[in-house]
Amino acid sequence: MKPAAFDYVAPRDLKSAIDALVGAGGDGKVMAGGQSLTPLLNFRMARPSLIVDLLRIPGLSFIELRENTVVIGALTRHADLEFSDVIAAHLPVMAAAMPHVAHLAIRNRGTIGGSLSHADPAAELPMLAVFYGATIKVEGPAGRREIPAEEFFVSALSNCLEPEEIVFEIEFPVLTSHTGWAFEEVARRFGDFALGCIAVSLELTDNTVSDARVAVMGVDDTPRRLREAEEILRGAEGGARTALRFAQIVRASVSPADDIHVSSDYRRNLIGALAERAFNTAFARAVGAKP
Ligand SMILES: Cc1cc2nc3c(=O)[nH]c(=O)nc-3n(C[C@H](O)[C@H](O)[C@H](O)COP(=O)(O)OP(=O)(O)OC[C@H]3O[C@@H](n4cnc5c(N)ncnc54)[C@H](O)[C@@H]3O)c2cc1C
Repeated sequence: MKPAAFDYVAPRDLKSAIDALVGAGGDGKVMAGGQSLTPLLNFRMARPSLIVDLLRIPGLSFIELRENTVVIGALTRHADLEFSDVIAAHLPVMAAAMPHVAHLAIRNRGTIGGSLSHADPAAELPMLAVFYGATIKVEGPAGRREIPAEEFFVSALSNCLEPEEIVFEIEFPVLTSHTGWAFEEVARRFGDFALGCIAVSLELTDNTVSDARVAVMGVDDTPRRLREAEEILRGAEGGARTALRFAQIVRASVSPADDIHVSSDYRRNLIGALAERAFNTAFARAVGAKP
């Protein structure tokens, strides 16, 4: 299929991009890597009158360690995250997740700003933003604002941006105190969107969990932090009983729908199995054992 006709501009700065969106009166769309938007245009599921190409705007592709955060420009490609030493050292769960995003050709084009804005419920970067408690920084005609990742994702393929707002960078806190972590995902084929996925990090004091962080995706309309599951881990020791109890709570905390891929029961059971595995892996890493 071919897209419906649209006008195209490639501004050289963020303000001109926002002005172009304002000029389109709510009917414009920005394009970054084009890996999600182009299919939507070709299937005519999106018919904007104007495409605002962000790729000519300098200064929006970077990965920087700033004190206890890693700040990432919105136009940073998935492949840059995958092969970054800063990400490997300071956001290890993201480093582990990136090879699961589509295929290398797509990771060479797709951007973090595009992935977050597209808000696919089975995409890795939105879940990682929720997991790490990232702040998404956006600019629009009314100026800049900062949005906590948990407030950014509204429902499947829907975010809280105004039509003329553009994501320009994302700030990820470094979880220095969380010593053990795990990322577990199942997709039908490697590189497909996930059927279910969980990230866990654990901090131990005297071999007991003193703090925990848990996020899931592919099992609800948006990626989610599971605070009840985090709570039951606090004060727990490692071992099969804790892992099983954790899996039970995770399973009960999600509400997947039936879809063309699998049933809701399948997804619920899958996320439970992944939770059990993730707890054991994170605990092993936290005590310095090889997972
Ligand atoms: C075959 C295939 C398999 C895939 N598998 C996966 C997968 O397993 N996991 C996964 O996470 N993703 C997957 N993807 C999606 C891929 O990662 C996309 O690159 C990504 O979701 C969108 O990034 P993009 O830069 O290409 O955005 P674009 O396609 O350019 O834009 C996507 C949407 O975001 C908006 N947008 C883009 N940038 C901004 C910005 N800075 N501010 C505001 N709005 C913006 C656009 O207007 C559009 O609505 C797959 C894609 C394909 C084609």
